[in-house]
Amino acid sequence: MRWNFNPQMSEHETHYHEQVDTGVADRDDWARRRRKGIPTAENLLVVACMDERIPVEEVLGLELGDAQIFRNAGGKVTDDVIRSAALTTNFFETDEIIVINHTDCGMMSATDEAVREGLEAQAGDLNEADLDPSLPELSIGDADLMDWVKMTDDIDEACAAQIEYLRQSAFIPDDVTITGYVYEVESGSLRQPNERIAAEISERRA
Ligand SMILES: [Zn+2]
Repeated sequence: MRWNFNPQMSEHETHYHEQVDTGVADRDDWARRRRKGIPTAENLLVVACMDERIPVEEVLGLELGDAQIFRNAGGKVTDDVIRSAALTTNFFETDEIIVINHTDCGMMSATDEAVREGLEAQAGDLNEADLDPSLPELSIGDADLMDWVKMTDDIDEACAAQIEYLRQSAFIPDDVTITGYVYEVESGSLRQPNERIAAEISERRA
């Protein structure tokens, strides 16, 4: 046996269990983050189209734990986006929302008539069809079916409109930062709505 006494060591030495305790505490924070009021790492909600070609986390540089992500057909601000945004901004310290729409979206791939015909054939009487099975009082009422479906003519205009819908919502605090981008499936990059430069840099200057 060798004595290897180092008086410096006792000051700096940490017991191994302290590392374990830190790990245990971190895991407890992770598992009970809602109960403890711990927000996402970036206090961020992302609303994006559900299209399988959009690598939402990758293009925004997000890691697990950074953001809440709501994806639906078209990345549209529907009543459930408002519901989700209302809850996370008012109760989970979320202070930023990013909308991601994209080129070649399926919402631009059919006419209103074709979609209307298909859904009416499936659902039958629209006044009898529940929009939310747990809330039968919520019906399409006098609204136009296509306003509910939200087909899209112009992706840049659609993106700008989604940002405005969120900004105007009474359920979302005014100090929440709301921005949006168009993801170009052809280039894999993001741009701000109405900032499409492909034509500008592909055509001869006057
Ligand atoms: Zn889409």
